[in-house]
Amino acid sequence: MTAARDGRDSPTSGATRTGGPSASLDFVREKVRADTASGRFGGRVQTRFPPEPNGFLHIGHAKSIFLNFGIADEFGGQCYLRFDDTNPETEETSYVDAIRADLDWLGVDPAGEVRFASDYFDQLYAWAESLIEKGLAYVDDQSAETISLQRGGFGQPGVESPFRDRSIAENMELFRGMRDGAYADGGKVLRAKIDMQADNMWLRDPVLYRIRRVAHHRTGDRWIIYPTYDWAHGQSDAIEGTTHSVCTLEFADHRPLYDWCLENLDLPGDQPEQTEFARLNLTHTVLSKRVLRTLVHDGFVDGWDDARMPTIRGLRRRGFPAAAIKAFVERVGVAKSNSTVEIELLESFVRDELNRSALRRMAVVKPLKVVITNWPPGHVEWVDVVNHPDDPGAGTRRVPFSGELWIEQDDFRMEPPPKYYRLTPGREVRLRAAFFITCTDAVVDGDGTVVQVNATYDPDTRGGTAPDGRKVKSTMHWVSVEHAWDATVHLYDRLFVASHPGADGTDPLVSVNPDARETCAAKVEPSVGDVEPGHVVQFERLGYFAADLDDARVFHRTVGLRDEWANLQKRSR
Ligand code: ATP
Ligand code: MG
Repeated sequence: MTAARDGRDSPTSGATRTGGPSASLDFVREKVRADTASGRFGGRVQTRFPPEPNGFLHIGHAKSIFLNFGIADEFGGQCYLRFDDTNPETEETSYVDAIRADLDWLGVDPAGEVRFASDYFDQLYAWAESLIEKGLAYVDDQSAETISLQRGGFGQPGVESPFRDRSIAENMELFRGMRDGAYADGGKVLRAKIDMQADNMWLRDPVLYRIRRVAHHRTGDRWIIYPTYDWAHGQSDAIEGTTHSVCTLEFADHRPLYDWCLENLDLPGDQPEQTEFARLNLTHTVLSKRVLRTLVHDGFVDGWDDARMPTIRGLRRRGFPAAAIKAFVERVGVAKSNSTVEIELLESFVRDELNRSALRRMAVVKPLKVVITNWPPGHVEWVDVVNHPDDPGAGTRRVPFSGELWIEQDDFRMEPPPKYYRLTPGREVRLRAAFFITCTDAVVDGDGTVVQVNATYDPDTRGGTAPDGRKVKSTMHWVSVEHAWDATVHLYDRLFVASHPGADGTDPLVSVNPDARETCAAKVEPSVGDVEPGHVVQFERLGYFAADLDDARVFHRTVGLRDEWANLQKRSR
């Protein structure tokens, strides 16, 4: 399914403004508003963002982040950052640090101390014993495979474990044995005793604890049993005082279990409520940490922070402003059913933001030399060029012009196709902010490749206008050969060729685009040397380019100049 063309997921989406009586709220915010109005949770609003520290954040997480932090902010509440660290095999402190740094970069500020589900292992364990005491949990000796088979399926009956009716005393002894190392990994599990015939599969005696002799990134070797997601999540919410536990739709099926667990415990405060919204999906993009991890580990990209990646790190390296990511996810809104948003919409938010903020510079990405044959030998002329056409306050800069210049290979044709208005023998064009030049001839090598263009300039066209009022059809950017700096420029295409990679159960990796990055040895005007790491400039006529975070002589094309989102909409009308 594809999003409505105005970019919203569905009619349930809404603007995210609050305050005015006419403000339209999405369904999650509407629920929060109703709860505060009725005095539920004592009028408190508390949300959380609960990443598992097993990978880097991606733009889908940004949707959840701005939703959870946004709600807390708008309703005078708080949002915690809680790491859901219950799978020691895949979790690492480096991911914790990276996620914290990404949140910081996105501009959100978690309330209080950062939390970890592992902070609550003692309480979770104690609550598991309390379930056993109530006859609501039992130790099962069967293998994971057997338990999974016995679960049955939709419309297929479940099979009760032969260990289901152990006494409370026996269960308690066995569970303590699990904790104390009496059994091998996988030898026993603790299961909730709910209903093996429940329509909801999650209620068919779900596993709450498993034995894993794996060191945990925070608790080390202290524990050898670890709670499952379902045993940790809702309880962690309750311990922290979460009121609204907002998560993605795939957890909707877990909600009855979320509630069952909490209803059967003696909670310190109110019981939180889970609400699900549709996750963000983008065309030509995969937002699954598992697949992203494969891209990294199998060398499809250079790392989690590769500028082709939809990770926050990747988008940041690519030059996507955090403000544009926020504006985009707010525009997409919050819906109750899954859909896919065109990546061009995201890019249009990036382009809008950069059009306002990015200074203009000249760079030649695929250089071709022009020699101005009537230029005074050795002469250099410094021309004033405006830094931003819509912002006089951004001022001007001086750019050196000389008798040898770089222009784009694309800006010259020996034999011009119809409607080609750029340089060709006999044609006059404007070099931006400098002079009119007329091509006289070109030097071609043995393969027929043009290696040099010769031209003459008109000294009366200084600044790019002719005193006799004559017009040219093309204005081109240029860089003086003598003054040019060398830069490496990466041009990008979609990382996945397919618009819906992995749709219909196919392997998304088959549609990875091997040509998603093209690297060019570019020539840039000297002032580009002042661009700071991570800053974005517009290379005139080419697009927006971000100086690499680690090497400011490397530039990533953030987005091109053409508004492809507008084009898509026009085509669909
Ligand atoms: P995986 O990709 O392996 O399923 P995950 O992306 O769900 O992992 P978590 O660390 O569990 O990783 O996610 C943290 C929070 O971000 C969860 O609340 C999850 O619902 C939310 N989230 C994850 N992906 C998206 C998405 N595409 N759109 C919106 N929210 C998302
Ligand atoms: Mg998940």
